[in-house]
Amino acid sequence: MTAALIDGNLLSKKLRGEIRERAAKITSAKGKPPGLAVILVGENPASQVYVSSKVKACGEVGFHSVLERYPANLAEADLLKRIDTLNNDPTINGILVQLPLPDHIDSQKVLEAIAPEKDVDGFHISNAGALMVGSPEFIPCTPYGCMKMLESIQYPLKGAQAVVVGASNIVGKPMAMLLLMAGATITVCNSKTRNLSRYTKDADIVVVATGRPKMVTGDMIKPGAVVIDVGINRLPDGKLCGDVDFESVKQVASHITPVPGGVGPMTITMLLMNTLEAAER
Ligand code: NDP
Repeated sequence: MTAALIDGNLLSKKLRGEIRERAAKITSAKGKPPGLAVILVGENPASQVYVSSKVKACGEVGFHSVLERYPANLAEADLLKRIDTLNNDPTINGILVQLPLPDHIDSQKVLEAIAPEKDVDGFHISNAGALMVGSPEFIPCTPYGCMKMLESIQYPLKGAQAVVVGASNIVGKPMAMLLLMAGATITVCNSKTRNLSRYTKDADIVVVATGRPKMVTGDMIKPGAVVIDVGINRLPDGKLCGDVDFESVKQVASHITPVPGGVGPMTITMLLMNTLEAAER
């Protein structure tokens, strides 16, 4: 078997077309476009690429966006003050603080400072709690994108067996909640899981978000399973790869997401969607 690709670029193009149309309606109705503020502290090279892509994507769908760059030694209090100003800025519907932040800044405190109604990353504790009780307001962009990818292949999630490998607050845990809400039966694995393949081999859907290049291999996957690879890792030769060993897994799975061109563009698309929804509300 050679797995069908779930193409994140193609799906993003379609969704961004819809977002652009809705943004134009909002702009004419309210006299201002949806607005996103992106804050970058420090010079992490991967973060610089991510924030530039986010701001560029905003321009493409007709959003107003501002990118604020600060040096790595920015004081936490100054960052909190800036967020407070953006919370009260009527031209801004969504605020995103690019993670990771420098060690001297308490990331959780910063995320909690963003007004929940502008928290388009969905990381504020009140948005995380809303998702937990099944009434999400803003769904974190990466798992939201993964769900859209499953929707695009019309995968019947009710009763499906799903394994999420990785349990971070930004990917693994919200992913598990979304799959659970959709009626799947979930197993969440972490770095302490013993005999990981015992779980992955049983699963109809495997979502991998560990930051460990190519760690899930074809022999760990049930024939015909759907595999979603969230990982983005830079190899010594400069190439990008996922947390899934694409070459061996594609021989076994029915569907697989590529890296690059899979979950990455979908994450940005769902950020646009959340910003649009913030503006529409
Ligand atoms: P974190 O480092 O925050 O979390 C990693 C999770 O994976 C932890 O729960 C950890 O377990 C678990 N883990 C680590 N090693 C193993 C292992 N050998 N077996 C099972 N579980 C393991 O990472 P993130 O969730 O932030 O990111 C994960 C990956 O996704 C990274 O490659 C990142 O670059 C990528 N990413 C991609 C995005 C996109 O847009 N495509 C967006 C966000 C992230 P424990 O809890 O025990 O430590």
